[in-house]
Amino acid sequence: MSHSQPIDWHNIDTVLFDMDGTLLDLHYDNYFWLQHLPEQYALLKGCSVDEARERLKDKIRSQLGTLNFYCIDYWIDELEIDIVALKYEVQNRIQFLPHAEVLLTAINALPVQSLIVTNAHRKTLAVKDAAINISSYVDDVHASHDFGLPKEDPQFWELFSKKFSFDPARTVFVDDNEQVLASADQFGIRHLIMPLNPDSQRASQKMRQPERYTGIQSLAELLPC
Ligand SMILES: [Mg+2]
Repeated sequence: MSHSQPIDWHNIDTVLFDMDGTLLDLHYDNYFWLQHLPEQYALLKGCSVDEARERLKDKIRSQLGTLNFYCIDYWIDELEIDIVALKYEVQNRIQFLPHAEVLLTAINALPVQSLIVTNAHRKTLAVKDAAINISSYVDDVHASHDFGLPKEDPQFWELFSKKFSFDPARTVFVDDNEQVLASADQFGIRHLIMPLNPDSQRASQKMRQPERYTGIQSLAELLPC
């Protein structure tokens, strides 16, 4: 683990956090999409769980990087399953990543605005809030659905900056998705941080350091000194 301090918080006014895989353990989402949903889909459609998983994988892959990929209403229509109800069924698996709460609390003590900027649908956000009240840990939460574009699209940041004004040179953005970091980079956000362990139940999926961004093994590396 690196012990260098990647952020000098004296030079920061704003911190933007992704939610899933950044503050919250991606285990919940992976378990939901790769286990719980295929099991329920198989029951409903009368096929095997493996077949359900294959069918779902194709459908999900076809929407990668688009807003539909993150859109609960799209998946309810497409799969004809009440995804929201299913998400609540396994909500006991929703949890913070290690050090997330202590980091958010430490940032709240600084003259720094903290926001969540997520591709998650507001209905998914509601599930997470019901479980651990994630919204209460930050000053505000913005969902990319409200802007009609996912964070992967550089235009998203133009629209977002019209709604929420911030100085990109004095902003930290933390996100486990490299395409999203690239679009934030293009917009000009200075400090780009990539968590390398989004799912606590999997061995580090991202061993390799990202080329252009600061990879962190743990959120503890962002703690103010
Ligand atoms: Mg994420």
